[in-house]
Amino acid sequence: MRLSQFHLATVKEVPADAEIASHQLMLRAGMIRRLASGLYTWSPLGLRVLRKVESVVREEMDRAGAIEMLMPTIQPRELWEETGRWAKFGPQLLKIKDRKEQEFCYAPTAEEVITDYARNELNSYKQLPVNFYQIQTKFRDEIRPRFGVMRAREFLMKDAYSFHLTADSLAATYQAMYDAYSRIFTRLGLRFRAVQADTGAIGGNASHEFQVLADSGEDAIAFSDGSDYAANIEKAEALAPDAARPAPGAELRRVDTPSQKTIEEVSAFLKVSPAQCVKTLLVKGRDGLVALCLRGDHELNEIKAGKLAELPDEFALASEEDILAATGTRPGFIGPAGLPGAIPVIVDRSAAMLADFVCGGNQDGTHHTGANWERDARITRIEDLRQVVEGDPSPDGHGTLHLARGIEVGHVFQLGSRYAEALEATVLDDQGKAQVMLMGCYGIGISRIVAAAIEQCHDDAGIVWPESMAPWRIAVCVINPKGNPEIAAAAESLYSELASRGIETVLDDRGLRPGAMFADMELIGVPHRVVVSERGLAAGTLEYRARNEAESRAVTRDELLGLLG
Ligand code: ATP
Ligand code: MG
Repeated sequence: MRLSQFHLATVKEVPADAEIASHQLMLRAGMIRRLASGLYTWSPLGLRVLRKVESVVREEMDRAGAIEMLMPTIQPRELWEETGRWAKFGPQLLKIKDRKEQEFCYAPTAEEVITDYARNELNSYKQLPVNFYQIQTKFRDEIRPRFGVMRAREFLMKDAYSFHLTADSLAATYQAMYDAYSRIFTRLGLRFRAVQADTGAIGGNASHEFQVLADSGEDAIAFSDGSDYAANIEKAEALAPDAARPAPGAELRRVDTPSQKTIEEVSAFLKVSPAQCVKTLLVKGRDGLVALCLRGDHELNEIKAGKLAELPDEFALASEEDILAATGTRPGFIGPAGLPGAIPVIVDRSAAMLADFVCGGNQDGTHHTGANWERDARITRIEDLRQVVEGDPSPDGHGTLHLARGIEVGHVFQLGSRYAEALEATVLDDQGKAQVMLMGCYGIGISRIVAAAIEQCHDDAGIVWPESMAPWRIAVCVINPKGNPEIAAAAESLYSELASRGIETVLDDRGLRPGAMFADMELIGVPHRVVVSERGLAAGTLEYRARNEAESRAVTRDELLGLLG
């Protein structure tokens, strides 16, 4: 590509609303432009990168035996009614009407459409297993679109759906997809981890997320230093402490804490560590308020709590009025000792091991000290309620947990029969009996990968693309081509030689000053750069610099070709 004939639109200023490096650099490099909240145009430069990611994904999906197809982005309401998701999907689902007032949604995902296709197309076990995929635009009306294409409303996803007669067959395809995903992210040059993920409301047996490691990631992941255990923090189990609960040693006493409500305030005021306090959260259960008790230094894991029989999946904290009505006490002074008997007290495994602890006094302006379970405070049940923390033992019994931030770029999921059952997608087995098919689904955020890669691979000068994602492999920068026909000719000849060898090359023939030209090539992250200049021409060399090296060096044309392999 000759840059004089391309539309490169780099900008100097960092837009004020771009908070993270990838968003800033994609805008500065001119890869994307914002149309409206969560909607982005991919420029010619951005599209080159997006297509690179897409083609790696496509190659590995094909290699793993998946078959490409394409489904519409507009999907009819009736199909979504059949699975109950028209209402359940919530406000993320963008609903639209046509001129006949018929209702549709813009696809946030395609389980309904593919299962409808499968029930019409597949009728014998002999057609199974089969794995269909597409690379298609999705729309989700995210509450907080942010970070550019990282969390957009419209984005490009690869979604695959497999169909099976048996659980073993599903498990085998799941493993094949897991392996394909590992190859994809390795080929893309990303540092990533596959982590166990929560299977959410759908249930299902197994689910893994592929997380690109980056401090700006929205997800927290926990991994062991003594095994290959890794899980999304939503899913990571906190084991019960090894030691038994000590016997009570102190008397239960009520102390005045006139304005101390939070754990920090109470522990500072009473001079006890937060780990010796119990914090009590009152939440709205299916059947009245429920108390969740945690150690003061621990945080509630809402996914774990949502699985308690007493709570709906998405539960809310009780309001101040509800708390006052149920306990006669204002929030901030609630504790398990002396709580009205109608409120179940569900205690986290670690909190349940405390003795002589501090907790709310169930009277405004007071707390208890010397509180003990069973003696002073009821336990309805002990459960795993908290987030794991750095240094917790690994749930598989090997090693210690560490925490890291990640960007979810892929997700594999054994769905089981949820969708096939709802849509009555069956095939005849070898006995001629109709069997509901089992399904797996496998997503990759193609557009998100572009941003995630930049989060991992950038420096002060701009993007540092892994070779597999770069818009071009090498930039040929020509100094003063208009002033010296010999230079222009040398650059042209190098450019055609590289092109003839199938090396994707960008020829910077814009005639810019060297500084401006180099700054652009560094910003857009081209992995290799050579300079064709008068001085080099005289010496018979080219000035070469790798994007990830600090110094440039003189190379001959042959050396350069050798370098590029
Ligand atoms: P998240 O937890 O980040 O919202 P999700 O769990 O809702 O993602 P999936 O339904 O598993 O996402 O979708 C498959 C993939 O699509 C995700 O792994 C992610 O890479 C990508 N993706 C999902 N939502 C977005 C979005 N708003 N913008 C860009 N990519 C997205
Ligand atoms: Mg997911």
